Amino acid sequence: MKTTFTPGDEVPRTGVYRVYHDNHRLMHQATLLSGKCFPRCKQCGAAVRFELARVVDDRFVIASRNHVILEDQKDVPRLVKAAGD
Ligand SMILES: [Zn+2]
Repeated sequence: MKTTFTPGDEVPRTGVYRVYHDNHRLMHQATLLSGKCFPRCKQCGAAVRFELARVVDDRFVIASRNHVILEDQKDVPRLVKAAGD
């Protein structure tokens, strides 16, 4: 069974995942929900890796945003402010 995951992979189990970054940050953990996609990192993008540390019962997971370092999974349109208008 696959044990490490990359951004865009589907989260197989709701649980706590170890998040490994590309040098800019030490490993930390994040709770991710099954059925969602693993998010990209704001800094190292798709270089981030996820490893399941602990399965969590869905009922005990409070709907909350991902760890602040990770991008929101939804595509949020980026507002571009036109200069000079
Ligand atoms: Zn990163």
